[in-house]
Amino acid sequence: MTALTAATVSAVVKSDAYGLGLEAVASGLAAAGCQSFFVADLSEAEKLRRILPRAAIYVLAPGYAADPTPYHKRSLVPVCNSPEDAICAALSVERAPYAVNLETGFHRFGLTFDDVRRLAQTETHVPALALSHLACAETRDAPANALQWNRFVSMCEMLRPRRRSLGASAAIWLGRRFHFDIIRAGSALYGLQMPTADPSPIRPVVRLCAPLVAVQTVSKREAVGYAATFATSRVTRIGTLALGYSHGLPFAAANRISVSIGPHEAPLIGRVAMEYVTLDLTDVPESLCRPGIAVEVVGPHFSVDDLARTAQTNPQEVLLRLGAGCRRRYVNSPVGAAGGWGR
Ligand SMILES: *Cc1c(COP(=O)(O)O)cnc(C)c1O
Repeated sequence: MTALTAATVSAVVKSDAYGLGLEAVASGLAAAGCQSFFVADLSEAEKLRRILPRAAIYVLAPGYAADPTPYHKRSLVPVCNSPEDAICAALSVERAPYAVNLETGFHRFGLTFDDVRRLAQTETHVPALALSHLACAETRDAPANALQWNRFVSMCEMLRPRRRSLGASAAIWLGRRFHFDIIRAGSALYGLQMPTADPSPIRPVVRLCAPLVAVQTVSKREAVGYAATFATSRVTRIGTLALGYSHGLPFAAANRISVSIGPHEAPLIGRVAMEYVTLDLTDVPESLCRPGIAVEVVGPHFSVDDLARTAQTNPQEVLLRLGAGCRRRYVNSPVGAAGGWGR
């Protein structure tokens, strides 16, 4: 396979590595050769620094100027999202590396053209990295991509950063001119599909299993679960799975998805409750319908993307919440023995 990019790939491990576990994910990526990481805030940065003493750690949250000490103490690179943060970093006597976020059209925060002009006129050390974030990278032909690219390039011409980074996961498939020096990849590392990647080399990486805790048979025309949203149309074998919205199973998945029991499928019936959800096991062989049996909710047959689509939400939100309170096992990682991922 030809390489997807000549740029350096930096791992975005914010929000506890999208809910998958910051330490385990980052140490696995570091063992695979990843040397730079983006985290959401200082508390994540400090956790990461403890396990990776030499990695480059970029902190995405604003607020550097308010208290630069923790950044210097742990050699963390602030991403400066405001002129205050940027000027403070540019003038710091330590001359520590800093990154700047350029406002090219996302309009969350970042330095505007005027801010960049003022920063460039401040006689000082240049940023180690200039970055910006595309709003519409998942849409190949979105005019916003070219607009943001143009603004990014002209702002960088004024600023002369050591390195440039515009793209997150989806931008990998927008063409190499979007790659610059560093790609900040989150979603794709965690197995989420990118609409721009076609054919897609991305393989799902998470599985979620839960145990069947009860099985009963009810007659025709009986209601199931809260608000009686499902009624049996036949004598029905109902299984209760110890998985609910407290574990991140979307409430909106009720009556809409199926789970796997070996080679068989069983639809969710009735509402998703806090700790449990019910299944129609009528068409699953009776020998497999025993309490204690593991049922696969997310895995090769049904990905996080599929779950998000049926629940009509975004896959990052589903991934981030999925498996809360569940026991985790990491496969092929320095931490955790081989095995699945689930309850
Ligand atoms: C979250 C985030 C990323 C990673 O985005 P993915 O689409 O998940 O790869 C990259 N850059 C910034 C600034 C982010 O906030």
